[in-house]
Amino acid sequence: MLEVSGLTVDYLTANGPVRSCNGVDLTVHEREIVGIAGESGSGKSTLITALTRLQRPPAVTTAGSILYHSPGHEPVELTTMTDGELRRLRWNEIAIVMQSAMDCMNPVMRLGDQFADTLRAHRPGIRRQAVKERTAELLQLVGVPADRARSYPHQLSGGMRQRSLIALALACDPRVVVMDEPTTAVDVVMQRQILTQLLSLQDRLGFAVVFVTHDLSLLVQLADRIAIMYAGRIVEEAVSDQIYRNPFHPYTRGLRDAFPSLHAPMGELSGISGNPPDLRNPPSGCPFHPRCPQRLEQCDSVLPELLPIDGRRVACHLHTTPQEEISR
Ligand code: SF4
Repeated sequence: MLEVSGLTVDYLTANGPVRSCNGVDLTVHEREIVGIAGESGSGKSTLITALTRLQRPPAVTTAGSILYHSPGHEPVELTTMTDGELRRLRWNEIAIVMQSAMDCMNPVMRLGDQFADTLRAHRPGIRRQAVKERTAELLQLVGVPADRARSYPHQLSGGMRQRSLIALALACDPRVVVMDEPTTAVDVVMQRQILTQLLSLQDRLGFAVVFVTHDLSLLVQLADRIAIMYAGRIVEEAVSDQIYRNPFHPYTRGLRDAFPSLHAPMGELSGISGNPPDLRNPPSGCPFHPRCPQRLEQCDSVLPELLPIDGRRVACHLHTTPQEEISR
């Protein structure tokens, strides 16, 4: 459905461009849940705002393409679409759920009016009664009582607000829903409820999901496929089980070991030493080399390419350098 190639985003600053998304290739297939994980500053939010064409200056897409495929139509290129064309695509084909419902909802509008706004903007001519019925249907879909349509956002609990935001994203039956850390602002019990509900909605309604989070253990339970980002690049991409059981990239391993698993026996957690790189002045060679426990001689000067290896994609010299050279 979505085919991203070479997507590059720069923040234009007085001291020159800062590249926070660097030549990203990613595909999203029908009914698939694709996870994107990485620490803060790894470029995952920049990637999805570019993907949904929601970025604002100083961020600029400087290279790459985003093709959207829909059945029976020629693929369309999102990076060259006009505002009018994007408006027709949004909500009807691609919707987004932001991190904090409190920040995205209008605090002085009742929930029902916010649903009505969206439905009228994207389904011109929709009748008042149909708006009411659709709002009730959507709220019930996520387990929020329909009479909550009369509430203001501050009158809802955090979990209810976040579920209402998911319902709002589903208002026009989109084919792809992009989610930017949608459960970060709620507690873990509510997080589990929301994710269980999301999986059942996805199963029933058949939309694809691009789910962004820093929490790899959460993603492993949710996503079919996971892309790990570091310093604006994808450094490993594989099916969830491979990422969890046998990560190839040292950064993926570090990220996995930094989160407790709900199912595995108790064990020691280890963090990743050091800090993410300053993208105004990124390290030479592999951007992870200053923090990498397994770095090789060439790592500080040669940038590893993202290559297909054993059914996944990985950007690390460990997997392209002959074993004899590594053990020397
Ligand atoms: Fe570590 Fe080198 Fe692999 Fe980078 S390329 S992750 S520094 S081993």
